[in-house]
Amino acid sequence: AKEDGGRGFLLFTEEMGTRAAKLMTMQHKLRRALDRQEFVAFFQAQVDVASGEIIGCEALARWNSPDDGMVSPGVFIPVAEECGLIDAICLHILTDSCRWLAEWSKRGLPEIPVAVNISGRQFHNSRQLLTIVDQTLAETSVRPSLLELELTESSAMNDPENAINVVRMFRDRGVSCSIDDFGTGYSSLSVLKRFPIRKLKIDRSFIMDVTKDPNDAAIVQAIVALAHALKLKVVAEGVETLEQLAFLRSIKCDAIQGYLFSRPLPGEAMADLLARGKPH
Ligand code: C2E
Ligand code: CA
Ligand code: CA
Ligand code: CA
Repeated sequence: AKEDGGRGFLLFTEEMGTRAAKLMTMQHKLRRALDRQEFVAFFQAQVDVASGEIIGCEALARWNSPDDGMVSPGVFIPVAEECGLIDAICLHILTDSCRWLAEWSKRGLPEIPVAVNISGRQFHNSRQLLTIVDQTLAETSVRPSLLELELTESSAMNDPENAINVVRMFRDRGVSCSIDDFGTGYSSLSVLKRFPIRKLKIDRSFIMDVTKDPNDAAIVQAIVALAHALKLKVVAEGVETLEQLAFLRSIKCDAIQGYLFSRPLPGEAMADLLARGKPH
């Protein structure tokens, strides 16, 4: 940029420079991490409230960095989205998930579906996403019914016509989709009912204080009733206490996911959990 000598302008460019430099460094690190295959999927169990059985799990991205240890997605996903590496990382998580599905099945473990998070951008590039999912399922010989895709409520409602179409195309292939982080976006109910999905996931922010805050309790109860009226199953995320579980059971929430039952685990540890059926 050309400078005009104005101090404000200089400060502005310096700040921009630092930000850009940081982004470049992080981008460089992420690219290298991709080359070195440092991204792995961890798996967190989803448990049926009535039976206590594991009915599925969610794949959560982790960056196993030699410099910084296990880096959580909250740190690298926003950067990856900004510099266009999100698709490559998510493809890696999808592949890793399907490989583990095939491995668990090979070991004769109970077969449960794995839910993979899909970014709004990937849903927007639907042709590419469909091709990638088809290829990955074919390469790993995983049955489509063992794969689920999670789309956040905000991306679903951002361009509902496109999202409904993509969800329909996946459903026709036998891959089901669910709406994630429900309650944090703005759903139009008339649009929600047109989504051919099977599951709603209630965001952790409503579950956190559900036993202390009557407003949260009312919201969660209303979401469960709404979901059931639309013939959808409901999963509550971030369940940490027995009190939360008791409340969710009392309002007939179908399933829970959270530290109370299990943290996200590496594939090998998830295999152990599947073999035992219950945490230690
Ligand atoms: P999310 O999809 O809402 O995933 C649930 C998050 O809640 C995970 O955080 C999980 O570790 C955390 N969690 C689960 N149970 C509990 C609990 O009982 N207590 C607390 N405090 N936290 C709990 P994580 O793994 O850090 O992931 C954060 C977000 O990053 C995810 O939120 C998701 O939006 C995104 N993400 C993760 N992996 C991927 C991916 O492969 N692709 C895309 N596009 N996004 C991903
Ligand atoms: Ca999710
Ligand atoms: Ca979620
Ligand atoms: Ca969430």
